[in-house]
Amino acid sequence: MLTAPLPNRVNIRKAVTRSARYAGALCAEQIPQFKELLDPEAPTIDVVVEFGENEEGQQFAAVEMQGRVVLECQRCLNPVVCELKGNSRLGIVPGDEQAKQLPAGLEPLIAIDDVDLWAVAEEELALALPVVAYHPDGECEPPRSDRAERSVSEETGSTDHTAENPFSVLSSLLESDDTKEK
Ligand SMILES: [Zn+2]
Repeated sequence: MLTAPLPNRVNIRKAVTRSARYAGALCAEQIPQFKELLDPEAPTIDVVVEFGENEEGQQFAAVEMQGRVVLECQRCLNPVVCELKGNSRLGIVPGDEQAKQLPAGLEPLIAIDDVDLWAVAEEELALALPVVAYHPDGECEPPRSDRAERSVSEETGSTDHTAENPFSVLSSLLESDDTKEK
């Protein structure tokens, strides 16, 4: 596991000129979207970012990631630990127009002077996240329906009075106020 911190903002021109390679471990504070998903036993994601320029003069950042997240198994509804691996090559472009010109195999990274490596890693992680997660075949079973109901009521502490729940009414009021202001 990598232990050095990954720098946050990096100057693109300098990084490309030096073919800089940054490696570090990101924790929940640096990738807040993943706070709830990180495995408490290995709560960091290793990230390596390498900058460079290809033969066509296109600046790029190659991003490699490895870590673990805990997702809900779609069969038994219990937590399942998933290995997460990401490997992508991003073409650094100043705007949407240039992004459209990128050759196949290069995803756009829109940035002008500096690039936020934490945000890049967070975005790439989101793309690497499996849409659905399962335990290996044969290692779990779907919950029986009565057991599923009981576990839901244990988690939320309420079963059938959601319609009467004053908090849900309150929050829907707040939400509609928000939308009116916008
Ligand atoms: Zn399962």
